[in-house]
Amino acid sequence: MFITIRKKPEELLFLNALGRRTALSVYDADKLNRLEIGMTGEREYDRIFGDAGHNGLYIYRDIYLKIENSVTQYDTLIISESGIVVNEIKNFTGDYRVAGSMWTREGSGPVPDDALSQLRRAVGKLMRLGTAHGMNFDVSGKLVFPNESFRLFSNEENVWKQVVLRVDLRQYFGGFRNEYSGTYASQVADIIERHIVPNPYFKQRVEFDSVRHGLYCGGCGSFKLEKHQFHLRCQTCGSRESNETHLVRAMSDFKYLFGPLEMTSRRMTEFTGGMVNYRTVLRALAKYCYSHGQKKSTSYEFKYYDFEEAMIKERSNRKYKDYIKK
Ligand SMILES: [Zn+2]
Repeated sequence: MFITIRKKPEELLFLNALGRRTALSVYDADKLNRLEIGMTGEREYDRIFGDAGHNGLYIYRDIYLKIENSVTQYDTLIISESGIVVNEIKNFTGDYRVAGSMWTREGSGPVPDDALSQLRRAVGKLMRLGTAHGMNFDVSGKLVFPNESFRLFSNEENVWKQVVLRVDLRQYFGGFRNEYSGTYASQVADIIERHIVPNPYFKQRVEFDSVRHGLYCGGCGSFKLEKHQFHLRCQTCGSRESNETHLVRAMSDFKYLFGPLEMTSRRMTEFTGGMVNYRTVLRALAKYCYSHGQKKSTSYEFKYYDFEEAMIKERSNRKYKDYIKK
């Protein structure tokens, strides 16, 4: 069973919001593109694993573990009575050659990070974590390539032992069917949980006035919206979303763009470009945020991880529907 949900990376949410409200630099646009490709690969991995079934296993996805004073990110940990299997997911496309620790992509040259040594380090850290807790649990790892268009060329037996290609993925997941999780697996999972920390690497922020204020269409991104009583209608693509949906998207953007900057009702009204009346803004803030302080000095903290999570969790508490044209 999946214990942790796989969320969109914070940097992706930041760059998404930034890209809607400014023109991204070439560097940021490239980064956003790579993050989106990575996420697509992880979702594909989850889908296939879901189809194969994993009820007897503890599966942690997208977690940061603090081990020996440093923090390492893990795409997936699979815990059973046999120990821990680390899966690092690489959504590569194209032809790659591996010789020694050198990965080369056909047509574009050497790849800066050696995925196999990253995996080895990640595995080694978990082994030392086990030792530190007096449990020498077994840890092994695989690099998983979920993209059908990825091809790997290598003469090294050692490389093939550590990778799983898309074509073998179902069979690989099927191999976990004989595994189960009992007391031992639960103890291992407890140790892992005690070491989970928030992502310490994401620190990007921008100034409040450096990005475009206003609301934009969830379908096409256009800021040309027409006010109706409970909705805003996009003049570019015709999508219609409720005021509430727009405000939730704005709160999520605010969180990722400005970080520690206090979200107040005044700032939110400014950020939404006055497209929704003040009382509606106040109501939405009260519904989707924790409030701190009193009256005029009240500041709000978005309760949810991001727009998507808020929309899913509050689905039954929303009065007006959205109509997105694709
Ligand atoms: Zn639109």
